[in-house]
Formats: sequence, C-alpha cells, structure tokens
Amino acid sequence: MSDKILPPLDRDQLIMQAAALANHLARAGVQWMPRPNLDTVQTLKSRFEAASATSSVDNAASSVAQNARPPVVDSGGTPSGGAAAAPSPPPPTQPPPRRPALSPMLVGEAGKPYPGVSLPVAQRESELAALASEVAACQRCPQLVRCRTQTVFGEGNAAARVVFFGEGPGADEDRSGRPFVGKAGQLLTKMIQACKFSREEVYILNTVKCRPPGNRNPEPEEIANCRPYFEKQIELIRPEYIVCLGAVSGQALLDSKLSVGRLRGQFHPYFDSKVIVTYHPAYLLRNPAAKKAAWEDLQMMLRDAGLI
Ligand code: SF4
Repeated sequence: MSDKILPPLDRDQLIMQAAALANHLARAGVQWMPRPNLDTVQTLKSRFEAASATSSVDNAASSVAQNARPPVVDSGGTPSGGAAAAPSPPPPTQPPPRRPALSPMLVGEAGKPYPGVSLPVAQRESELAALASEVAACQRCPQLVRCRTQTVFGEGNAAARVVFFGEGPGADEDRSGRPFVGKAGQLLTKMIQACKFSREEVYILNTVKCRPPGNRNPEPEEIANCRPYFEKQIELIRPEYIVCLGAVSGQALLDSKLSVGRLRGQFHPYFDSKVIVTYHPAYLLRNPAAKKAAWEDLQMMLRDAGLI
C-alpha cells in the first residue's frame, strides 16, 4: 500500500468536491442530504467573498503598519540591522480574493433542478411501475391504440446516470413490449456497451409508447399526448445525461425544430440533465458513414462524465 501523502485541497477544490458529492447523492435518491436553496447559496457565497476581501484588506493594512514602524535604534543610536536605515520595502501585494468555482448545478447554469425531491431507488421503481400500468391502459391516440399489440413503456435502471431516448416502438418492440430489441436495438446495445455500460445500467425509453402504423413518425398531437409520460419517467430518474436518438426525441425534449445535424455536437440543458442529440440507430444502419459522428457524440458525453 502506498503511504504517499496527498497535498491538502485548497478552498476551490473543497467546494467543487463537496458540490459534486451533494449532486451525486441527490441524484442517487439520498434524502438526508438537504437540497441546496439557490438563494441561500448565493447569499452565503457573497458573505464568504466579502469576508475574504475584508481579510485581505486587514492583512494588507497590518503589513503596511508593520513596515511603517520606526526602526529599532540600538544604544549607540544606530538603527539595528545595518549602519544606515534601509528604506522600508513596499507592502507585499495581496492577490485578489479568488471566486469559488461552484458546480453548474449550484449556480443554475445548466438549467433548473428537477421539481420535487429525488426519490430513493425503490420508490422510483414503484412509481415507474404504477406509471407503466397507467400507460398500458392509455387510449389517448385512437389510431395508435387500434394498431398496437401492447404499449412499450421503457426499461432499465431507475437510478441510471444515462438515459437513451428514442422515437417509438417498431414491429419487434410492439411484439415484445420492450424498447430497442430489433436490429436498431442491437446496434443501440453495441453503442451502450462501447460506452462501457450494460443495458441494465442505463434506462431506455421512447417518445411515444405505441407503435405508429407502417413505422411512420409520430404525429405532433401523439407526441403531445405521450409527453406527460416520458417527462414523468425522466423526472423520476433525473439522469445526468439524456442521449436523444434521432430528431423526433431531440426536438420533443428540447422543444426545437432543428435537425439532428444542427443539434448534435453540444450539450443542451433539460432541467439539470445534460442532453446530447445524435443519430438514431435505425438511421445508422442505413447510413453507416454517420457512425463516426455518433461515436464522437457519445465520446463527448463520456469525456464530460470523466469516463474516458
Ligand atoms: S402513444 Fe402514448 S398517449 Fe398515445 S395512446 Fe399510446 S400511450 Fe397513450
């Protein structure tokens, strides 16, 4: 075992690590950790900075007073430390107080926190199960209800760091009741594994829970009908990252009309999750040349998450 002693953390590092720990525990559903109130954090931050500035001024004043003191004269009338009184050195310049680097969640730069409290995993699972039962009985989209074999709610880890968000069930998913199990699903599984996750570690869901006939895109009204369901799923899981697969899910989540080409390559905020938009695996099967760009998108997320 190494007995190397790590250097002590400075103030900024301590604040960063405490914020990251609080963020992680809150996402994992630990309820003893109070959720930070943004107003209180800002007030404390201002007081902390004001105190630091005052302390710097006090130090500077004390330093000036020290240097302004008359030289001590020895019994022979000679200033101590030399034959002649040396000019006092200028007071040392104090560095300006450093601003603590707060995490994006605390300063709200990456979007508002999700509403309500982060639930423990078991409670998330039971709420997801109750929502799945509600979805199974949903009749909001008459055409989809007539065509579906069953609804496809979504599956995976209720405390996932990463959620993969697709468009809608295809024929295989409609038969099995599970998301992304056909050829496109197999490619998605490979993409998830390339990120060093298993399907069980992430959560997979679609924008609409019923198969559109002929694999057409869901209509805006159908997406609007299903929106409360996917929004509630994401709110319960509150992942760090949401990977939107294709334009339908990206535009629905971000309320945008931009293409995947315009949305990809950057993070978008959705509450305090970071959203990336990339190509749908079905598109990648038809256009293998786009796989490189999709992998770059996933790597951007992995780098941000500190996983590569
Ligand atoms: S797509 Fe969604 S809103 Fe429409 S019927 Fe299916 S579950 Fe209900």
